[in-house]
Order: sequence, then structure tokens, then C-alpha cells
Amino acid sequence: MYPLEAKLGALARVRLASLPTAMSPAQRLARSLGIAHLWFKRDDLIGFGFGGNKVRGLEFLLADAIARQADIVVTGAGPQSNHVRATAAAAAFAGIESLAILWGSPPPRTEGNYLLTRMLGGKVRFTGNPDRASVDAEIESVVADMARAGRRPYGIPRGGACALGVAAHILAVYETAAHCAESGIRPDLVLLAAGSGATYAGWLLGVKSLHLPWRVESVTVSRPAVEVRRRVLALGDAAAETLDLPVALSDGDVVVHDGFIGEGYGIASAEGMEAIRLTARTEGIFLDPTYTGKAFAGLAALISRGRVASEDTVIFVHTGGAPALFTARAEVL
Ligand SMILES: *Cc1c(COP(=O)(O)O)cnc(C)c1O
Repeated sequence: MYPLEAKLGALARVRLASLPTAMSPAQRLARSLGIAHLWFKRDDLIGFGFGGNKVRGLEFLLADAIARQADIVVTGAGPQSNHVRATAAAAAFAGIESLAILWGSPPPRTEGNYLLTRMLGGKVRFTGNPDRASVDAEIESVVADMARAGRRPYGIPRGGACALGVAAHILAVYETAAHCAESGIRPDLVLLAAGSGATYAGWLLGVKSLHLPWRVESVTVSRPAVEVRRRVLALGDAAAETLDLPVALSDGDVVVHDGFIGEGYGIASAEGMEAIRLTARTEGIFLDPTYTGKAFAGLAALISRGRVASEDTVIFVHTGGAPALFTARAEVL
């Protein structure tokens, strides 16, 4: 039993994911990048509602919503959000309504995650403001209005970035540690994409709580590194405090690599698309243009700059996102 497992295991949870997710070896890709061993932690194959890392947090968030007798789940992000699509799927599974507050105005094409969200019966409302932060205040005010009108809304912040979301990723580390122990895998580096930072905060806390000698680093795909760092530390604090965990993050734990966002969040980059092509053609594994493709481009750059040694074993956390491959934005491929 790992240190926090009893505490996290006691949290109310709705089982959505097929766990543990697989660890896929990627030796052809490792060779082509020039490192000893590469593994993908396959949260893209988590199995529920087209999968991805958000499903882990939703197991706890949905259970909390049900415990509070919520009759509608309210969250938000952009039209192509994996989190919004996974939340709509989780709400459908529980027989609860869902509403997504989306920035900007309705997209010209109903495709990718937006198509899936609508197919799942998720209601959507656009802020009319292209500023992504416009979503946060709107979620709060919609939840407050609904509560005043006698409904029982359950608000989930953008990306599911909150204490319960972080907790779910601590358990992902325990899953991975168990797999590594059984299979004799000795990772030097775990690398993942950072958006809201909840996944990264959970991985850092999990590895720290087990005193594993693994470096855990991230590649930002959305915000400047300083901002990601601030958010990761805040989310780590929130999780430690809310769940009363005997572990805390310090500034030195957080490593965020910047320089791979390209033109912006959600806009495919040339390096990211090259990473998608290479991974597909060497391993038959699909990365995505918004998160994992860019993070993997970051890994390739770290290797070529000598920041990852040729004898290293790397775990790349594949956090999902495949529906974005089926959008016009991925056509630059
Ligand atoms: C949301 C998301 C991430 C980033 O996770 P955060 O917890 O928001 O940092 C990475 N990959 C995919 C596919 C995602 O949907």
C-alpha cells in the first residue's frame, strides 16, 4: 500500500476509466530519438468517452456532484476541449444534465470534440468573448444564477483543475509505480503536457510522496512557463490542504519547458505535427495537435540539446486528445 493510497482510496468515486491504463514500449521511436528506453503511459486508452487524462479527475468530481445531489454539471473551456467532451460523457453516464460555457462564438464547423460534446447531449453557451478567462467568471455566475432559480448545479473549473482533479493524478503515479516495479522499468524522466497544470501537480505530488528518483517535467502548451509554475504550485497546495496530504510541492520541484506552443494554444505547430507523424509512423500511436504532439516535440528538443541523456529511460504520459485530429485545424498535416 502506497502512503496516500488509503486516504485517496476512501474518496467517493464513480468508476469510468479502465484502469490501470497500459504502458506501451516504444523502442523504434526511442532509437530514432537517440535514447535507451521510451514508454507511453496510455491515458489516451482510458476507455471512457474517447478517453484522456480528464476522465481520471471526473471519477471523483462526478461522485462529488452525485453526493451533492446535483442536477446539472457546469464547466467550460473552448469548443475543442477534451475536458468539456469528457464531462458531457460523464454527466450522460450519471443521468445528469451538462452545460459548457465556451469562449468565443460558435465555430463554423461542428467537428472533433465539439461534435462529440453535442452528440453526448451536452448543452453549450458561448461567452462571445475570445478571451479564455472569460469562461471562469461565467461558470461562477451561471452556477450562482441556477442555484438562485432552485436548481442544484455543480461547477467544475476549466480543465477540472481543482483538488480532486489533482488527487486523481496522484493515483495515476501509484499505478505507474506499481507497473514499473513489476516490470523492472527504472524511469529517469517522466514528461507530460501542461495545460491547466492539474495533471502535472498530481504527478509531482505522487512521485514526491513515494520518494521516487524520477524527474518529472512538463512542457507548457498554453501559457507562459512562469504562469504554469504558479498554477501548479497553487493546485498542489489546494490538493494538499483539501485532502490533508502529508506532502507539499516546493518551487524547486516544478520544471516547465517553454517554447513549444507555436502560434498559440490549440493552433497546430510544425514541430508538433512532425512529432505526431513520427510517433504514428514508428509506433502506430496517435498523439494530438493541441497537447501531446507539442509536448513530444519538447521531448525531442530536450534530447537533441542533451538535456535528456542517451542512456535515459523516459515515460511520456499520453494524456489523450485524439478527437482534435479530426478537425480542419489538423489539416496542416
Ligand atoms: C487537458 C489536457 C492536458 C493537460 O492537462 P492539465 O491537467 O490541464 O494540465 C494534456 N493532454 C490532453 C489531451 C488534455 O486534454
